[in-house]
Amino acid sequence: MTESGDSTGLAEYIRTFQAEGYRVDEVVQSKCATCDGRVFEVLLDDLNGVAQRTCVRCGTAAYIADGADHLDEAELVICECPCGEAEFEVGVGFSLHADREVRWISVGLRCVADGAVGVYADWKINYGPSAHLLDEC
Ligand SMILES: [Zn+2]
Ligand SMILES: [Zn+2]
Repeated sequence: MTESGDSTGLAEYIRTFQAEGYRVDEVVQSKCATCDGRVFEVLLDDLNGVAQRTCVRCGTAAYIADGADHLDEAELVICECPCGEAEFEVGVGFSLHADREVRWISVGLRCVADGAVGVYADWKINYGPSAHLLDEC
């Protein structure tokens, strides 16, 4: 299991949500590569499958999974919780084929202000190899 440190219920929410009905096999919590931070502002384009997270502590920005590959068409919109805040813990759910290649990705966010959770985007992965995407959250 790769959800060490997740005590917030976000991973469980993503599993239960099952974007598009695909079983979620792994949930990986996003972690800033620079400062180990867990709270991010998130920009999303749900249509094109692009998610960018920016660490609120150190400002390091990174794309989730293969988001950087689809930037051409993307129109990124900042994610806001219904409460109006825009700082989240990020969990990335992976639906896997039997050979561990990735079938579907869903991005779940947990608002650090009020704890509200939601799946804000999900998209299909239709190429391989794709197992490396689990390391790019
Ligand atoms: Zn950081
Ligand atoms: Zn909120």
